[in-house]
Amino acid sequence: MSLSPINAPRSSRADPLGRPNSLLGLAASGRLALAAALLALFLAGPALARQYLPQPDLAQIDSRDLTTAMARKPSSQEGPAPAEAADQNPPTPAPGAAPEPTPPPAAADPSAADLSAVGQGAQSLTDGLAEPPTPQPNPVGLNAVPLPAERPLVFEIKHKVPRPLVGKSCTVKFAAVGDILIHDTMRKYSLKDDGSYDFKPNLRYVQPLLAKSDLVIGNLENPLAGAEKRLTGYPNFNAPQELAADLKEIGFTTVLISNNHSMDRGWPGLETTIETVERAGLDYAGGYSDPEDKRRRLISVYNGVKIALLAYTYGLNGYPGPKSGEEWRLGVIDRQLIWNDMRSVQEEGADFIIVSLHFGNEYQRKPNAEQLKLVGELLAGDPTNGLAGADLILGHHPHVVQPFVQVDNGPGLPGQAVIYSLGNFMTSQPFAYTYLGLILEGELTVTPDGQKILGPFTLIPTYCHKGVKDGKRVYRVIPLALAANDPQSYDLTPAMGANLAKTLKEMNAHLVSMEPDSSKWPNFK
Ligand SMILES: [Zn+2]
Repeated sequence: MSLSPINAPRSSRADPLGRPNSLLGLAASGRLALAAALLALFLAGPALARQYLPQPDLAQIDSRDLTTAMARKPSSQEGPAPAEAADQNPPTPAPGAAPEPTPPPAAADPSAADLSAVGQGAQSLTDGLAEPPTPQPNPVGLNAVPLPAERPLVFEIKHKVPRPLVGKSCTVKFAAVGDILIHDTMRKYSLKDDGSYDFKPNLRYVQPLLAKSDLVIGNLENPLAGAEKRLTGYPNFNAPQELAADLKEIGFTTVLISNNHSMDRGWPGLETTIETVERAGLDYAGGYSDPEDKRRRLISVYNGVKIALLAYTYGLNGYPGPKSGEEWRLGVIDRQLIWNDMRSVQEEGADFIIVSLHFGNEYQRKPNAEQLKLVGELLAGDPTNGLAGADLILGHHPHVVQPFVQVDNGPGLPGQAVIYSLGNFMTSQPFAYTYLGLILEGELTVTPDGQKILGPFTLIPTYCHKGVKDGKRVYRVIPLALAANDPQSYDLTPAMGANLAKTLKEMNAHLVSMEPDSSKWPNFK
């Protein structure tokens, strides 16, 4: 087995700190572009304000308008903005709830940034957008958690389906997406006239793609702690509870709840989130609500194939992690802890181990040194102690897509796979590349002689599109390739289609930029 593409990316392609050459230039030019745009906005504010009213019909949005329309600040004509100002305040604790820790200092809400002048005249979807804010340092960081004592686990076996006839291969189809993160702006796009929320229309274009898979995984980045705990976006999130049932209806089977916003409503918020996703019929991984859960890890059986899903986060938005002895409450990244969990599910007979890692640097399009190191350790496992490596690693948190790599086990034997970051699936972040995400689709097969086959994998880039139609704001997640080939069916102009095609080409090249051998590339769709 060769791990070289993952453990030792070629130095000409990405430096060890995850700073590809092209991005360094982009960051520098981004600062200049932002400064120039702010100056232009200051000098020509009133004229620009007129220019962005009235709003164009979605069908009228062309390639230039799209960037400006996406980036402009919603006007007062676009409906009420409930709780918009509440973002910077810490949530009010529920009566009887444990006091919540002090939140970390807030930076500007990236979702609400006014970029209206910045995107003007952009030649592609990724030109001219603002430089994202400087990410905060990881408050927990890798390997910062004391090692827990090794412990036995019990297992929640979901979807018991016996393996079919002896002598036949068994295959599970899965799909995984990145961050589902409901900023205040995003929430407004889903508000109905009666005050409730409906996220299903946002996802109707990707629903048919997800429907083809048995196991559909998404990173639920915000607590669903209930409206009584106030719905807020950045920096301390709490999203409408309707989201859980809507994700289930769209086709999700499983959500990941271990990420840096897990604690945004404290431990009671995490418990309510778990109750909410359970009520919606979703499976979940990464967080647990009662002591019985401390020995529970999710193993799902689809079509006779046992799949373990483990989930961990680098940090918790500045909130403290689980107390000593209560590490079971939330999966926090620690290599030894993950190895222990992997060993347990392996001993339980899992055919495949999927590890979800909420890690990396926000807005960086290549993995950093810590990501590369941890991924290498998890793929390698601990062979001297009988621990096989993880089969599939799902990364998320950077809010931009990072590359895909599959280990080569020899001719015809594609091996373990890693997507370093799945990007944003459903968010309203307006920065360069943050409106792009990825559906990673694949098959996991066990042959009659017990051999595991990972793949083939298909990469389906998606695009978070904000627009206006019939005077109303609309938000959709659309598959890039399908919309580029047939813009009319997506209410987009031919010019917009051409723009999407250009973005798709760049995205696909980026996705395989850590694997120079094209014979090892996955499928694209
Ligand atoms: Zn995150």
